Amino acid sequence: MEYYVLTLFPDMVRDGLHTSIIGRAIEDGIISLETVNIRDYTLSKHGKTDDYPYGGGAGMVMQAQPVYDAYRSVADRLSYAPRVVCLTPQGRVFDQAMARELALSRGIVFLCGHYEGIDERVIDEIVTDSVSIGDFVLTGGELPAMCVIDAVSRMIPGVLHNDESAEDDSFGGGLLEFPQYSRPEVWNGRAVPPILLSGDHAKVDAWRREQSLIRTAERRPDLLETAAISPKEREFIRNYLANHKDI
Ligand code: SAM
Repeated sequence: MEYYVLTLFPDMVRDGLHTSIIGRAIEDGIISLETVNIRDYTLSKHGKTDDYPYGGGAGMVMQAQPVYDAYRSVADRLSYAPRVVCLTPQGRVFDQAMARELALSRGIVFLCGHYEGIDERVIDEIVTDSVSIGDFVLTGGELPAMCVIDAVSRMIPGVLHNDESAEDDSFGGGLLEFPQYSRPEVWNGRAVPPILLSGDHAKVDAWRREQSLIRTAERRPDLLETAAISPKEREFIRNYLANHKDI
């Protein structure tokens, strides 16, 4: 997987992603990351990449030309047509299914906006997907691009090591993950659930599955509509909720 990030703040993206598991995957050559500074492509003598919006109003708009030339500096080198993801609060809301789908791409170009956003004409010209990370507005597209790259990379074979498997993670099977505990057995007067110390793997798995069901019913009941759950498990949730009416 090749990632290219078109941004006015390349250091932010590089520093953020050359860390921890994603940094290791870059070093191992499983994924590659190239940041492209949009400012390097401005034709303005003063290094300007933004201008006032036509029609008036607050803020500045990123101009089409430097964004387009930054994109071409990548696209002209590639032997395939990359997905071009524009980070915008107006895009499709990112989720695990989209992360899985994007992970199948050969390369993705991310376009990070700033200020009031980007001239619509260059978006129309190059963008294949508009993606939002949620219904809130950030100052720039760098953090959203980093979120998407992190989540997509976890879906690529070899990025996570065996002991970091994504299978049980929240949303993996459509449910939230069960609660996790580590040493010591008792901390601050709070004991680890005894079943986890039993050594009985079948019982531990059954308990974890129940906890996932309970957690999802309590915190994200909307996920239960599409999760892969057996009729017996649906019955379990119904009984649980009937006995915990305060939820
Ligand atoms: N004026 C724009 C609007 O109302 O849709 C918001 C611009 S925002 C202040 C600046 C940049 O931050 C956007 O161009 C986008 O790249 C990024 N951004 C902000 N919120 C985002 C979100 N929820 N998801 C993805 N990108 C976001």
